[in-house]
Amino acid sequence: MSEKRIFLSPPHMEGHELEYVQQAFASNFIAPCGPMLNRLEKQFCEYTEIPYCVGLTSGTAAMHLALKGLGIKEGDLVLASTLTFVASVSPAAHMGAKITFIDADEKSWTMDPRLLQEEIDRCEQKGQLPKVVIPTDLYGQSCDLDAICEICRPFDIPVVVDSAEGVGTKYKRRHAGHGATAAVYSFNGNKIITSSGGGILASHDQKLIDYARFLATQARESFPYYEHKEIGYNYRLSNICAAIGCAQLEVIDKRAQQKRAIFEYYKRHLEDLPGIEFMPEADYGKSNYWLSVILIDSLKCGTSYEKVRQALEKENIESRPMWKPMHLQPVFVDCDVVDNMVASKLFEQGLCLPSGTSMSKEDLQRVINIIKNNCEK
Ligand SMILES: *Cc1c(COP(=O)(O)O)cnc(C)c1O
Repeated sequence: MSEKRIFLSPPHMEGHELEYVQQAFASNFIAPCGPMLNRLEKQFCEYTEIPYCVGLTSGTAAMHLALKGLGIKEGDLVLASTLTFVASVSPAAHMGAKITFIDADEKSWTMDPRLLQEEIDRCEQKGQLPKVVIPTDLYGQSCDLDAICEICRPFDIPVVVDSAEGVGTKYKRRHAGHGATAAVYSFNGNKIITSSGGGILASHDQKLIDYARFLATQARESFPYYEHKEIGYNYRLSNICAAIGCAQLEVIDKRAQQKRAIFEYYKRHLEDLPGIEFMPEADYGKSNYWLSVILIDSLKCGTSYEKVRQALEKENIESRPMWKPMHLQPVFVDCDVVDNMVASKLFEQGLCLPSGTSMSKEDLQRVINIIKNNCEK
């Protein structure tokens, strides 16, 4: 019989989750909206120091409403990170926007500001400036937000950060996403903290958040009867899910510390293997280390990320290749890309290791031993 399965990034409940869910039940707010949702939003604003936010059914919904609020329309140009999960750009794709993907830099694996600058200069010459820039905070590492915002400011181009993976991440002394036009966060089940499913749109712009809240509740005008001047969505987070989120947000800093300890443990035990490299931490911030990611250079290592992944799977351990860059996705073949061959190279070597905060030393050691055995062959 094989040993117990080790998952990539399972939910970790150990605090007040059940207690708050019970409170939500007791109050009978078994619905979207309710006191727990208000509490989650307040708590999130206090934690991130971003003054306004709205709780939604997912990070994807948050991105959709951000783009709606910024007036993105069919044919508009959007510049986005290529090294990301598809939900960064699926709302833009649904809206009929034209997407150009921007490669990452080597020091952060997030959007390379120099490539962004070059592309915006080209756009200016061609006479079609982007309507929004969407950089991603990758695996818990913030993009270089100030550099990106400075490039966009002279043209008044809004920046919507996909910080779905970045709850608890720091950029300079701020929370990731703080200072952008808007930031998107996810509480999906695989993220550093979860509400079983949910997301938040946050901004310094109260109007943008109020409009998102209005659209998220079917765009109901304030009349006693149902009056509609626009078409909205059903995107509000349930009060029950928000209750879980409130408890999870209480332990976010502890979770980020635990994730960092997991990364450091892997690094201590694996970094001396030839051909193994770890995701770098950019000097401008502090990653939440959502996932520990390694690069396996098959020429130096004598094995590939895929062989290591299969060896781990055989021992009932889940690992994953890195996000496949968007410009390599069949669905985006027609999109332009500013390609510096960074994301595509990372994808050829990258493996995300199990990073659950409830992993024991023994669990970590199981993973390490298998990787060592494979690399030393
Ligand atoms: C998880 C994730 C999303 C989507 O969040 P959901 O809450 O699952 O909709 C978007 N972008 C990135 C980079 C993600 O990792």
